[in-house]
Amino acid sequence: MSARTRPDLDQLPPYVAGRTVPGSIKLASNEVSAGPLPSVVDTITRAATDVHRYPDMGATKLVDALSKQLEVDSERIAVGCGSVALCEQLVQATCGESDEVVFPWRSFEAYPIITQVAGAGQVRVPLSEGHALDLDAMAAAITPATRLVFVCTPNNPTGTTLHRAELERFLDSVPSDVLVVLDEAYREFVNDPQAPDGVGIALERDNVVSLRTFSKAYGLAGLRAGYAVASPKVAEALRKVCIPFSVNALAQEAAVAALEARTELEERCANVIAERTRVRDELLTQGHDVPDTQANFVWLPLGERTQEFNEHCTEHRVIVRAFPGDGARVTIGSPEENDAFLAATKAFPV
Ligand code: PMP
Repeated sequence: MSARTRPDLDQLPPYVAGRTVPGSIKLASNEVSAGPLPSVVDTITRAATDVHRYPDMGATKLVDALSKQLEVDSERIAVGCGSVALCEQLVQATCGESDEVVFPWRSFEAYPIITQVAGAGQVRVPLSEGHALDLDAMAAAITPATRLVFVCTPNNPTGTTLHRAELERFLDSVPSDVLVVLDEAYREFVNDPQAPDGVGIALERDNVVSLRTFSKAYGLAGLRAGYAVASPKVAEALRKVCIPFSVNALAQEAAVAALEARTELEERCANVIAERTRVRDELLTQGHDVPDTQANFVWLPLGERTQEFNEHCTEHRVIVRAFPGDGARVTIGSPEENDAFLAATKAFPV
């Protein structure tokens, strides 16, 4: 007889990571292709000599550095093993079995998994026609059972961002005992002046959390570090439900160094934004439908042709992230990588 696991897990689809294919260009996981910020690599090497010690559980240096840079009290900051771990901790901190989590769909693939594993109910709210979050529908989906709402902006995988005014209107309508998580994993790539700043909103509203990560613009996906800015009470709850020592020592040191490399970061984001505009413009010229994007990726809503497009790109040695029946998400890479992708799409009949 084999050990018993929870029967509901048999039906749970696993998280699917972007594929890595040797010899092909990977544009499947929204990583930055430029690598870690140059000044951060030395710090990681130096920190390696201390890895026989447990990391600082309170990530004091990192929390202090974030507190200074964001101008936020350190008691409002919690760090996690990537922002995906913080998503999980937030659900754990708020939800029991008969509670519900509301989130847009399609959005970050981890939301339904985390919710189901926590034993909470999931309420998926379809995106609007324009592939953006439908905040009116999300507000209407909130019931007395709702404990948490994920608001992903810019939205993964469609890239669309909310505007501050519509978000504020939505937040005004949310009961104050429901936690709203602004998942801002791609915030550093945003250049729309009307986009919200989740950290500022989290400081003004006790039931709002801003989640950010060192995985994307900061180029530290392999080290796993993210942070939340929340009310002191929610930040404390996040620390309580955290697995001990979950943010490793190299990640802590690297994240501190990355925060100091502000000029390098800004330069990198400017390059990504310029390439994002070029790639989207070219795709539109080629006849593709591509929603306006504020992230480091574009979304091609190809519907039933998604799998065909995926195979076509793979044959052209470009690995994209396909969501069968829905669309393909393609990360903005280096100019050469983007050229290879655009050459592939040019050969795909629209
Ligand atoms: N939120 C969103 C919207 C994401 O796209 C991702 C990564 N794909 C994450 C959170 C998690 O990122 P990480 O755990 O690497 O910080």
